Amino acid sequence: MWSPMPGWGVCCTSASPDCRWPGTARTGSRRSSRPRAGIALALDSGANLQARLTVLADGGRSGLKERLGIASDARPYDQVALIASVETSRPHQGVAWERFTREGPIALLPLRGQTMELVWTHAAGEERRHLALAEGDFLAELQAAFGDRAGRFRRVGSRHAYPLSLVTARETTRPGLAVLGNAAHALHPVAGQGFNLALRGVMDLVASLEAGLAAGWPVGDAGVLEAFDARRDADRRNVIRFSDGLVRLFGIDSRLLGHARAAGLIGLNLAGPLRRDLARRAMGLER
Ligand SMILES: Cc1cc2nc3c(=O)[nH]c(=O)nc-3n(C[C@H](O)[C@H](O)[C@H](O)COP(=O)(O)OP(=O)(O)OC[C@H]3O[C@@H](n4cnc5c(N)ncnc54)[C@H](O)[C@@H]3O)c2cc1C
Repeated sequence: MWSPMPGWGVCCTSASPDCRWPGTARTGSRRSSRPRAGIALALDSGANLQARLTVLADGGRSGLKERLGIASDARPYDQVALIASVETSRPHQGVAWERFTREGPIALLPLRGQTMELVWTHAAGEERRHLALAEGDFLAELQAAFGDRAGRFRRVGSRHAYPLSLVTARETTRPGLAVLGNAAHALHPVAGQGFNLALRGVMDLVASLEAGLAAGWPVGDAGVLEAFDARRDADRRNVIRFSDGLVRLFGIDSRLLGHARAAGLIGLNLAGPLRRDLARRAMGLER
């Protein structure tokens, strides 16, 4: 069943040339708690930094959380996402598509012109055959699985696969430290919510720091960061529940439920206001 998601953004996470971290953080250690909380950072450039507030936003894969002793809960989905860019026969016009198949969702996200990013979910192990196929065979199988809503698939770039899990950090703030984005919560890409959620975390952190400063509290103050954490809590939990619920809903292989899902998505496609409301909620514009 088809579900256009015009509200999706293209995820772009590389730093702009004007916005470079002076080096890769190798170690982080907690120095003290109130009143002068702070983290000491050793960069691979050899520089050492001290900050009253450090934002840990490394995507959760560089091991910094673990060095700080922050534990995470990880729940593997037993699914693997196959990622590649694909060229289509017609321009995408900024529209993202997602098709929910019995094998898992297939998403196409708009990049440049006629290039789209493919996220093809497979049951763990079943992606290997698609990774090994010759380009023509791969495109034919993708076309058969996805249909022609995005046009004909003409080329595919290099294919990568990574296992999907729901990972949530058990702590997202400490005195002098805020954990943001995928470092705090890595979601299944089914609903395309990770980046949006990360941006809302940044916005809420800025708002909390401003409110704290206006009230005379220093940057990095434990109470200010606790208030930030409380402010994030409902949004974070709702989005995790929404993404996780979609994975479960479309992962259950029942004929009856399949008809109900299809009817629900057709209804959503037809009901403009309902679809717009869902898109606004998915973008975090309604909280
Ligand atoms: C295929 C795919 C499609 C997606 N589509 C969507 C979508 O449509 N919409 C959406 O909202 N979300 C989407 N997501 C999720 C989204 O990409 C992530 O949630 C988002 O990128 C998280 O941002 P982040 O900054 O926390 O982490 P990342 O994007 O992983 O960025 C972390 C950055 O930290 C740097 N770094 C790492 N370690 C260190 C270190 N030790 N020192 C210094 N720097 C370091 C990295 O180089 C990187 O630049 C998608 C994800 C995938 C995989």
